[in-house]
Amino acid sequence: MTSVNLTEARRLMVTSQIRRRGVKDERVLAAMEAVPRHKFITSKQKLYAYEDSPLPIGHKQTISQPYIVAYMTEQLMIEPEHNVLEIGTGCGYQTAILSELARSVTSVEIVSELARDASACLKKLGYNNISVHHGDGRLGWPDDAPYNRIIVTAAPNRVPKALIEQLDQNGRMIVPVGYTRFSQKLEIVVKDRYNTVEYIPSLAVRFVPLI
Ligand code: SAH
Repeated sequence: MTSVNLTEARRLMVTSQIRRRGVKDERVLAAMEAVPRHKFITSKQKLYAYEDSPLPIGHKQTISQPYIVAYMTEQLMIEPEHNVLEIGTGCGYQTAILSELARSVTSVEIVSELARDASACLKKLGYNNISVHHGDGRLGWPDDAPYNRIIVTAAPNRVPKALIEQLDQNGRMIVPVGYTRFSQKLEIVVKDRYNTVEYIPSLAVRFVPLI
């Protein structure tokens, strides 16, 4: 496909898969239109870059469905001054979307090759407010805490305690929670200015498990 076709396919992805399903935040829609999803996947998968589905990225992991990326990002309500933590970098696609919207993004990935490749890919594309680390995301990343927003893109059985601790006052976190792939639900965790935490259930989803 030529780059004109890819840009057109991406525009279509935003209108037919994302806007049509109810994502309204114009900043999120603009980010989804700006980030070249095809640059985050292998050349074998490139034809499917703007399809309405997740795709394999190796190491038994996937790049999330575009709509889910947009939905979760919209639910986070990211402001330009925010410091954001992502757990599960994968290929770095969601990281790039966050980077378009926030001041800074810290991302933690447990598979060292994925962390290394995502970091190189994001640098090559010119993203310079992102730091990718190899580690266990259940522990968060205390060095850059607290975070105004946290997004988890692999499913734990329950929200890890360290992440709740590293969420700032007035903070918001979104995380898929569930024992099996077939019983997961997104949970939105909201911390108020008195550090009281509230859990709001959201969409049913299917993520790879948090290892
Ligand atoms: N954010 C990605 C989705 C990646 S899939 C996107 O934009 O498409 C989930 C990722 O979480 C995988 O790369 C997997 O290796 C990683 N992961 C699983 N358990 C983890 C853990 N305990 N800590 C950090 N990353 C983890």
